[in-house]
Amino acid sequence: MTTNRRTFLHRTFFTGITTTLGISGFAPKKQRSKAPLVVATWNNEKACQAAYQVLDQQGNALDAVEQGVMIPEADPNDRSVGYGGRPDRDGKVTVDSCIMDAKGQCGSVVFLEDILHPVQVARKVMEQTPHVILAGEGAQQFALANGFEKQNLLTEDSRKEWQEWLKNAAYKPVINIENHDTIGMLTQDAMGDLAGACTTSGAAYKMRGRVGDSPIIGAGLYVDNTVGSATGTGLGEALLRTLGSFLVVEFMRQGDTPQKACEKAIKRVVDHHPGTYQEFQIGLIATDIYGRYGGYSIQPGFSYFVINAKGGQLIKSRSYL
Ligand code: ASP
Repeated sequence: MTTNRRTFLHRTFFTGITTTLGISGFAPKKQRSKAPLVVATWNNEKACQAAYQVLDQQGNALDAVEQGVMIPEADPNDRSVGYGGRPDRDGKVTVDSCIMDAKGQCGSVVFLEDILHPVQVARKVMEQTPHVILAGEGAQQFALANGFEKQNLLTEDSRKEWQEWLKNAAYKPVINIENHDTIGMLTQDAMGDLAGACTTSGAAYKMRGRVGDSPIIGAGLYVDNTVGSATGTGLGEALLRTLGSFLVVEFMRQGDTPQKACEKAIKRVVDHHPGTYQEFQIGLIATDIYGRYGGYSIQPGFSYFVINAKGGQLIKSRSYL
């Protein structure tokens, strides 16, 4: 049957209505956001700006997140990440880092020494090897073979603090608001794609060889380009036991907003640590594909930085306690 003008108008009218109202009836269908967005743990404003600049110039989410976290990696005043990070109890700075892209690819380095930008090495592991994680000496060999140079990451200030700590050498890796500022960063680009990275020198004065959550996919970071992304900071062991970042993304997959998903994941961490959760901090942040974001922590004192088209702001996280 040929389409006459009446049928055509009829069809156009009803197509117009379904498009406006959404297929399911009256709620408009949520659209994937294509507005650049950067969210990072703590007051990492400079890192977020560096990432946002990449996105603003039509760069992709992966490049943005890499450029962003490289800022604290090179900052001697950031005492939990890269250069200037606090050493382990033997006085060695060891760094952990991972990165994940929109295709679900990921790379990670753990227990790496003397390399300024572990996130770049993690990206190379992702892009140039069939593996996900390289550790210790092997990770360093791989970095050196790829043109990275050795650099001592222990600054004079960090060395002095460590020597002070040695006087009592109390091994009590309690992570509170004062002694850590690991960066986990989540980005979304103008194509709507997501990426994330997490990089740290880990818990101060940790046992030699200790690896936390930050470089472990699912614990310290998780990105699913069909759902959203999440990353965390705080006592790594608690996020390792609960796969906190993966959990946040799974809650979002089930329909929760990033904020609600972070709250539910923190509750899971709390329930997993009866009697001890009062003594440590965990902060989680998340974004979803619709450009929404959220964050939540166990203790008060956690904050996260957000930049989107509206500008940048430091958000004081709400907390379980
Ligand atoms: N999550 C990191 C770790 O346990 C520490 C931190 O967030 O400051 O290694």
